[in-house]
Amino acid sequence: MGDALDRLDAEITVCRRCPRLVAWREEVAATKRAAFRDEEYWGRPVPGFGPHRAPIAILGLAPAAHGGNRTGRIFTGDRSGDVLFAALHRAGLANQPTSTSSDDGLTLRGTRIFAAVRCAPPDNKPTPAERDNCAPFLHREMRELVPDLRVVVALGAFAWAAFWPAARAVYGVAPARKVPFGHGTLWRADGAPALLGCYHVSQQNTFTGRLTPGMLDEVFARAKELAGLS
Ligand code: SF4
Repeated sequence: MGDALDRLDAEITVCRRCPRLVAWREEVAATKRAAFRDEEYWGRPVPGFGPHRAPIAILGLAPAAHGGNRTGRIFTGDRSGDVLFAALHRAGLANQPTSTSSDDGLTLRGTRIFAAVRCAPPDNKPTPAERDNCAPFLHREMRELVPDLRVVVALGAFAWAAFWPAARAVYGVAPARKVPFGHGTLWRADGAPALLGCYHVSQQNTFTGRLTPGMLDEVFARAKELAGLS
């Protein structure tokens, strides 16, 4: 099982299926942000991160241009990641509260993090065609996690929407009617992992207080409960 995920990770990192995103990720990597001008940017698709046996999955939108697209690890090296990994550490799901580079020693417990789209998109907005191009990677990754996966935490409405085709493809289940995204919304069905909604850890949400550390703590406490992790 682990080997299949390793192979998938390797396959993802060389994908060039979306011309607009390939051009953008490489342009950002070449021009860089001033603060990181001495760094070598990753500039490629960003695979999932975390153990291969994970009862909790965290599903994000896409890597950040100067975060994952720079460091090569999802939610690593940006403000969103600062908030996310601090919360995972408080929840006992990460060994350290920070995530600054791909060799910073961070490890996760029972938790795998991945994104619906694996390349950084301009303005954090992938097109529907790019989302659909990348969906098979998400479905394959979820398929590899099947034996252990109990709950998927969807960060924001885009990730929430990306879950349903994955649930259909991997588990053969679909809700009878549309389930709107909401922070704290929980969807459950027999034979599939639970889906738990959480506002995205973006600066727009965390700087404005729409998403607080306390709200994240509640989400991860609930996720742990659903996953049977104490
Ligand atoms: S977004 Fe996904 S499908 Fe498109 S180029 Fe990146 S890895 Fe490939």
